[in-house]
Amino acid sequence: MSKNNRIKKLSGEVIKSVTSSIAGMMVTLKYFLKKSVTVRYPEEKCVISPRYRGVVCLVIDGKTGKHRCIACGTCVRICPNYSLVLESGVDELKKRCPTKFTLKLGQCMFCGLCVEACPVGALEMNKEYEISTYTRQGLERLLLP
Ligand code: SF4
Ligand code: SF4
Repeated sequence: MSKNNRIKKLSGEVIKSVTSSIAGMMVTLKYFLKKSVTVRYPEEKCVISPRYRGVVCLVIDGKTGKHRCIACGTCVRICPNYSLVLESGVDELKKRCPTKFTLKLGQCMFCGLCVEACPVGALEMNKEYEISTYTRQGLERLLLP
């Protein structure tokens, strides 16, 4: 290869690398000037979508302060992961009611089938997302207050 050709090839490569660096810097500059889409978690928290599926919990009636569960067991039977454990009894009016209701959070896959199947709308999925724990026992949630 002649000296002229080598200089030509080298200058072409230099121009190519300079233009690609400028193009990259322009992309950086574009996003640098835009509003950030990330937050400084955990100091800042994201706004959770209304349809977010958090932890399964009992709906507490705002007026009575009580849950609506009638201990029918539909949610327990429909759960594909056997995540719900229900013990039932009868209340002072001789009506069937839950006495112990546990969610095994470690087995739950947040499918929402239990919420959909409940005939009285006693279950919902809250907006909780900080659910990590150091122990297995921490994954057992008592749904009854
Ligand atoms: S969300 Fe799905 S996996 Fe979790 S308890 Fe309900 S039915 Fe079971
Ligand atoms: S399906 Fe609803 S009413 Fe029946 S046991 Fe589950 S939470 Fe209670």
